Amino acid sequence: MGEDGGAERRFLTDAALGRLARYLRMLGYDTVYLKGRDGAAVLRETLRTARTLLTRRRDLAAREDIDAFLVEDDDVLAQLSATARRFALRFTAAAMTRCIECNELLREVSKEAVLEMLPPHVRKTQETFARCPGCGRIYWPGTHYARAVARLLNALREG
Ligand SMILES: [Zn+2]
Repeated sequence: MGEDGGAERRFLTDAALGRLARYLRMLGYDTVYLKGRDGAAVLRETLRTARTLLTRRRDLAAREDIDAFLVEDDDVLAQLSATARRFALRFTAAAMTRCIECNELLREVSKEAVLEMLPPHVRKTQETFARCPGCGRIYWPGTHYARAVARLLNALREG
């Protein structure tokens, strides 16, 4: 089998691919986004963490001492499709378990615990919540979420 394409694959994206990183996290893939634009630093971090590097830089993508993939599209959904095609990414149970802002795994939390922080319509319509231990952001399977998932699924199908 070799590459199984499960959510176990861990990514690192360079500074030009912040939106792609958020989509990968939405799918449940452990994805570190490196803000700096220094190629040497990106290379060091890729070697240190043994992650798969997603980059727009040809010089980095061409290296043979790291696992790197050149992302050529400008549009984030096209980027996601290309990445999904390359690594056989799938929509699995790991989707929606990770904070899209900081990559932390979400923890389930009771409605009572977050009640004060919920907009009124969410308070009325949602029962299941998760919170990011990193930034405190609260997630629920609401409409905004559902639209994002639909976009992801479409992107993967096109891929
Ligand atoms: Zn977070």
